[in-house]
Amino acid sequence: MVKKQFQAESKRLLEMMINSIYSQREIFLRELISNSSDAIDKIYYKALTDDTLTFNKEDYFIRITADKENRTLIVSDTGIGMTQEELENNLGVIAKSGSLAFKKENEAKDGHNIIGQFGVGFYSAFMVADSITVISRALGSDTAFKWESEGADGYTIEPTDKASIGTEIILKIKENTEEDNYDEYLEEYRLRSIIKKYSDFIRYPIKMDVTRS
Ligand code: ADP
Ligand code: MG
Repeated sequence: MVKKQFQAESKRLLEMMINSIYSQREIFLRELISNSSDAIDKIYYKALTDDTLTFNKEDYFIRITADKENRTLIVSDTGIGMTQEELENNLGVIAKSGSLAFKKENEAKDGHNIIGQFGVGFYSAFMVADSITVISRALGSDTAFKWESEGADGYTIEPTDKASIGTEIILKIKENTEEDNYDEYLEEYRLRSIIKKYSDFIRYPIKMDVTRS
């Protein structure tokens, strides 16, 4: 499979993520939950003007699944999903909300500041994950696609199966090192406290599922 390259700007942001400091890492979950919430909002607003679409509140939620044995943390949602083109265009570039800030701060070349002050978006997941897999099926589409990346060296996209509309972000959580603990991002109490701290205002249910090893 052909590996596609990230844009130069994205690549630099990714490198910053990989070298992030401990205190910044937990915000990755805020970024992923906010993307899931945005994706559900998109269906919600579409349903307001589209008679063929009804928004049943109980069908829309975000689920956090931690699997200690496999070291995976999954953030999934029943939002609008992404087509192949959207996966390519939206995840291959740096966060729209972050990019302006990124350019402004670029002179200073202070990566830590950027991460602390602005939403850096989807790529922030690389602060805690060695690799990220995104499985998504867009509203109105029968086919799903899988986007995969291990960071700065690019990403791949291929067709896959997914039973329902929405997106699944699968993080392969980094191994602990002498200086750095990543196991905590697979711990229910830790995940709950991060969600409480940053995502308390999210208007869709956030369900949690933890598998112990
Ligand atoms: P921003 O949220 O500021 O646009 P992000 O880097 O967080 O930047 O996300 C980039 C884009 O990827 C989003 O704008 C959205 O189009 C798409 N995206 C990310 N996560 C999801 C998701 N869970 N469902 C649907 N689209 C998503
Ligand atoms: Mg975002």
